[in-house]
Amino acid sequence: LYNMVQDLKGNIRVYCRIRPAFNAETKNVIDYIGDDGSLVILDPSKPRKEGRKVFQFNRMFGPIATQDEVFKDTQPLIRSVMDGYNVCIFAYGQTGSGKTHTMSGPSEGSIKDVGINYLALEDLFEISSRRKDIINYDIHVQMVEIYNEQIRSCASENGLSLPDATMHSVKSTADVLHLMKLGGVNRVVSSTAINNRSSRSHSVVTVHIHGKDISGNILRSCLHLVDLAGSERVDKSEVTGDRLKEAQYINKSLSCLGDVITALAQKNSHIPYRNSKLTHLLQDSLGGHAKTLMFAHVSPEGDSFGETVGTLKFAQRVSTV
Ligand code: ADP
Ligand code: MG
Repeated sequence: LYNMVQDLKGNIRVYCRIRPAFNAETKNVIDYIGDDGSLVILDPSKPRKEGRKVFQFNRMFGPIATQDEVFKDTQPLIRSVMDGYNVCIFAYGQTGSGKTHTMSGPSEGSIKDVGINYLALEDLFEISSRRKDIINYDIHVQMVEIYNEQIRSCASENGLSLPDATMHSVKSTADVLHLMKLGGVNRVVSSTAINNRSSRSHSVVTVHIHGKDISGNILRSCLHLVDLAGSERVDKSEVTGDRLKEAQYINKSLSCLGDVITALAQKNSHIPYRNSKLTHLLQDSLGGHAKTLMFAHVSPEGDSFGETVGTLKFAQRVSTV
């Protein structure tokens, strides 16, 4: 079983991905990326020796890592969902660091350079068809968005926002693409309504697996694929009103997520799931036998250094390495 390998590694892991540099003008802060998951960055404002910061993750992906390479190291975890395990995968990082690229790809609903969401479903369909003589699987997908601590459905065919998100039965990758396009479109609609809202909401794609084997045993599990709101700090002196409120909701929910994962990693008796909508929604898939993977995304550019350190510290805190 896919799970045996995973159990040896523990239930929480953290990967870090660095996107390519787009601005050649600014200094690149990446000094070293190790095959063992180590990362060394340099503070661009300090002399080399004083500005070195070292981090350790389960896995590092540098700027030239492909979508397929990233997926390959995620695949065993995703596959364990077919054996009845609940799995959560999070993309964390400041806006522009590559979260949506990792989860969805360059554009939602297109086959080019697709990310984990699509590749995961493709893989699950393949396993389902390979096992069809012993287990009959049903796969449903749900897409929701959490904005200002309110949950709304993204991919509803009739365009209505339903408090309880509609489930979509998916049988092929074509169904998945259709759904993602729909989800993407609905997100774009709201982003024009409220200036680029997608970076300020958490997007959660949930894949529900229902399996029935030849003896009639039932298996139920789910895979949550979460593209988190941007983790950047906003300057309280510069934003007011709705923007400030949004920023406070994001801060609170991301720190709640950090608290929950840290409490799980430390095996605390109390896990504060109820402190945010996101952790409450994912409660059954965080902790217990569930498996969690956090992708920490960073930009290599010097002008993002402060945010990069913030992201890496957050990721280091939730990791058990
Ligand atoms: P976020 O979702 O964190 O705001 P995006 O995923 O939208 O960031 O990435 C910002 C920009 O950088 C996009 O134009 C995206 O296509 C590009 N990008 C991000 N990561 C990569 C990567 N690994 N390779 C190539 N382009 C990337
Ligand atoms: Mg994004």
